[in-house]
Amino acid sequence: MAKIPINLSTGTIEQNSEIIVGIDLGTTNSLVAYIKDGKAVAVKDENGKRTLVPSVIHFGPDEVIVGDPARKKLITHPEKTIYSVKRLMGKSYKDVNSFENYLSYKIIDEDQDALVKIQVDEKFYSPIELSAEILKALKKRIETRLNKSIQKAVITVPAYFNDTQRQATRDAGKLAGLDVLRIINEPTAASLAYGIGLDQNEDRKIVVYDLGGGTFDVSILQIQQGIFEVLSTNGDTFLGGDDFDKKIIDYWIEDRQVDRVKFKENKSYRQRVRLSAEEAKKILSSAELYKADDLSISLSKFNELIKPLIDRTIEACEIALKDSNLKKEEISNVIMVGGSTRVPLIKSSVSSFFDQQVNDKIDPDEVVALGAAIQGDILAGNQKGMLLLDVTPLSLGIETVGGLMDVIIPRNNKVPARVGRNYTTSVDGQKNLKVSVYQGERDMVSDNRKLGEFILSGIPPMPAGIPKIEIQFILDADGILVVKASELRSGISQNIEIRSQYGLSEEEMGKMLLDSFKHAEEDLAKRALLEARNEANNVILSSKKFIDHNKTLLTKEETATLIEMTKDLEMAAKSEDKDAINHKMETLNNYSRPLAERALDHAISDALKGKEL
Ligand code: AMP
Repeated sequence: MAKIPINLSTGTIEQNSEIIVGIDLGTTNSLVAYIKDGKAVAVKDENGKRTLVPSVIHFGPDEVIVGDPARKKLITHPEKTIYSVKRLMGKSYKDVNSFENYLSYKIIDEDQDALVKIQVDEKFYSPIELSAEILKALKKRIETRLNKSIQKAVITVPAYFNDTQRQATRDAGKLAGLDVLRIINEPTAASLAYGIGLDQNEDRKIVVYDLGGGTFDVSILQIQQGIFEVLSTNGDTFLGGDDFDKKIIDYWIEDRQVDRVKFKENKSYRQRVRLSAEEAKKILSSAELYKADDLSISLSKFNELIKPLIDRTIEACEIALKDSNLKKEEISNVIMVGGSTRVPLIKSSVSSFFDQQVNDKIDPDEVVALGAAIQGDILAGNQKGMLLLDVTPLSLGIETVGGLMDVIIPRNNKVPARVGRNYTTSVDGQKNLKVSVYQGERDMVSDNRKLGEFILSGIPPMPAGIPKIEIQFILDADGILVVKASELRSGISQNIEIRSQYGLSEEEMGKMLLDSFKHAEEDLAKRALLEARNEANNVILSSKKFIDHNKTLLTKEETATLIEMTKDLEMAAKSEDKDAINHKMETLNNYSRPLAERALDHAISDALKGKEL
């Protein structure tokens, strides 16, 4: 694949290869790593202590803070402190409905299908903007450490992330001033950190068991010629080390080591107990007993408490294995990821389930970022002959009747790929057929990007519909696309090879890249404004309809208030202020929700009345 080293601050194309960092953008913690003297290392804080940056963002009076200092604000300023933003990436309100209670900050519910926004004071933020803050902090951390500007990164995402979530992660990178060269799967990165998949000749199946603070994922991958394919994933988005801490607390309360009432009522006592529980858990990863002040717990008790939770993860492994159609014997490696895999009972349970030693030599908190840094190094051209592509990032297809895009290789399809499809002619005696190749996700080719075209000529004269024309797309691991058209009855064929990634010259591509960075914030703001306006217009329409349909049900005051609020929203929608639009929309929604419920109850009771029971 073409790689263009562009210095984003100067806009010039650089000749020397530069550092491409690896970033693990996690739910609870994030970190950045790079290759130092041929070895992947995670970057520590300014005190040279911790590599983990808590994925927490706090909106202070004059500045945004990220990481450990932000984490401290979780208790004092919960409504202005955002955590777990990864859970919201690329999600609509409908998607996150089920776990809203778990969050202490405010998610805006205005349109069930719209992407979620987070409200802090009078402002509205998208998960992309918030993730960008974390990425900016990581960028700053490595720039300070290396004393040079860093622009390029590989960012990891869970294997189950869909395209919207991946795109959101890319956009967050762009907003943070990072050129995201690749989004790779976390299990793929973990595997690379262990050097698995670096040898083009190996053919293996591996398991990545990832238990963090609040989430559990298991992924089964097949690696062939350096290509990683996710065969199956399973997990539990609400299971992690935090649940172990809770088990310990429950036990202490039960055992009267912790006072139930005081724990419920006294915030600082509660916090102290929580910290002790986490400490106990960590100590028990290398000791038989935890004992401090008035609190104690033995390893055997701890194991007994967490056994049911571990069993749940093993069941998930069993399902993943079944879904991958593999047998345990076919698994060549089991890789441990996430801080919670330090718990000995987890290691032994996983090891005994898969009937082999687990890979746990690399720090489980760092392993994903380290692997991402290795991927970055490969992309920087420092590890010759290596190329890793999980999937194709955009759909590839051809133009058919009426300018429609007919997708032949859909986005996210694994590569290499070879897909064929049959077509025919639409005119009697048609001798030539133009094949135009496009890339993109829109339905009309005019909205997508043209990659090239050629003419299949010399089709023997036949009535329309008789020729059998096969179009084949052959995409290799380097992103090179060969499009071949053949008329199967006569055997004539023609093909085109599209080398450049987007059918653009490297310079044009560089310019496009630069432009997308230059306009990232502006584009995002534009999009947010347009989206807010669209949503507002929908809300205005349905509000007017609602007033119309429920004249008899609403009181005079209610009708007047609704009309007033709808007008306010109409005014706001004409403005350029998306926060104002969102605000008015929320006010109207909050006011109309109970009225809508009442109308619904009424409609139901009316319907029942009409029925013979
Ligand atoms: P992560 O989300 O991967 O950063 O995982 C963090 C989780 O790992 C938290 O629940 C920590 O309490 C847990 N953890 C960190 N160190 C240890 C340890 N030594 N033993 C057990 N759990 C640990």
